[in-house]
Amino acid sequence: MKHRLALIGYGGMAGWHHSNIKEKIPQIEVVSAYDVREEALEKARQNGLKTYPSLQELLNDKSVDLVTIATPNDFHRSLSIACLNAGKHVICEKPVTLNARELEDVIAASKEAGRLFSIHQNRRWDRDFLTVKKVISDGLIGRPYFVESRVQGSRGAMHGWRGYKQNGGGMTLDWGVHLLDQALQLFPEKVVSVNAHLFSVFGSQVDDNIKLLLRFQSGTSVMLEMSTNCFIPLPRWHVSGTDGTMMIEDWSCKGRIVKLRPEGEMTWEDDIVYTEAGPTRTMAPRPKHTTAELPLPEVKADWTEYYKNIADVLDSGAELIVKPEQALRVMKVIDALFASQEAGQGLKCDI
Ligand code: NAD
Repeated sequence: MKHRLALIGYGGMAGWHHSNIKEKIPQIEVVSAYDVREEALEKARQNGLKTYPSLQELLNDKSVDLVTIATPNDFHRSLSIACLNAGKHVICEKPVTLNARELEDVIAASKEAGRLFSIHQNRRWDRDFLTVKKVISDGLIGRPYFVESRVQGSRGAMHGWRGYKQNGGGMTLDWGVHLLDQALQLFPEKVVSVNAHLFSVFGSQVDDNIKLLLRFQSGTSVMLEMSTNCFIPLPRWHVSGTDGTMMIEDWSCKGRIVKLRPEGEMTWEDDIVYTEAGPTRTMAPRPKHTTAELPLPEVKADWTEYYKNIADVLDSGAELIVKPEQALRVMKVIDALFASQEAGQGLKCDI
């Protein structure tokens, strides 16, 4: 039997959920929608969905067993709890809540109701991220120690409700949640310190241009940068490992690996070398025969894997991929990052 899904919030992202489930997930049927705006309800009806005049009517609809919440962030907590208490399985958009304490309330409600609760962390299936994950896990560049992950736009202020603190706006709670989740997937070990540099270039309410620094227990350092005011972007990923470097230029995943050739021994000149950088041995170009250039590995990447997993969890008891506890860890790191910004310095933590 197909699962019957209702969408709460029928705005930009809900459209993606609707069309992708319809096209690619035969086990789930999107049947209905609820939104506080009449235009959004009208659009849902035009797209063939039943709509409800109130949230309560959706909660009372026993034919719906699964709900996806895609409203502004400040409604996620209360809507998730209401749906779980009504016996629905719940998928919530990111950021699942505005802080870790709110998320603990939702996790408790899902345990009490015995219903599935997951967070739409679709960017775990981004091609660039899966490529980095494969390069690291296959040991292609040795042990990674500096990781830089960036998304850089130049369209200015955060759009719509994302510009308001009350709605859970700002870059940390928008793209930060994705990039932090990816970093915590790459390095499951503890985060031992954080340092946030949050700028509000276009207003006073929310951060819109940010750098987040994390140090992991093994010493690995991760820098995440998100901007809306950058006209000369740096690569999407730059990873330094003990045996080489990898770089991914952009979303199309142009990039390369340059690694040490085991047989290409490096020798040092006795005398100082005169280079474009002036007299220096350290920054003199490396002899070509000591390194090799490799293409990036091919990976399979499809966001709908997220919903395939949800259907498999519900139908055959598969393991849930995006777990609430993982989202809780992301929210605890975010709490620590906001505390670091408040303190104006890096902070130790144990997350
Ligand atoms: P949006 O403004 O386009 O849509 C939000 C919709 O929610 C609107 O139609 C609005 O009327 C409705 N709404 C507001 N309050 C409501 C309430 N209390 N009950 C019911 N409906 C309500 O926003 P969006 O860009 O679609 O973002 C929605 C969510 O999706 C956010 O949490 C955002 O972070 C997330 N998102 C995730 C991704 C991703 O890649 N995972 C991408 C974009 C947005």
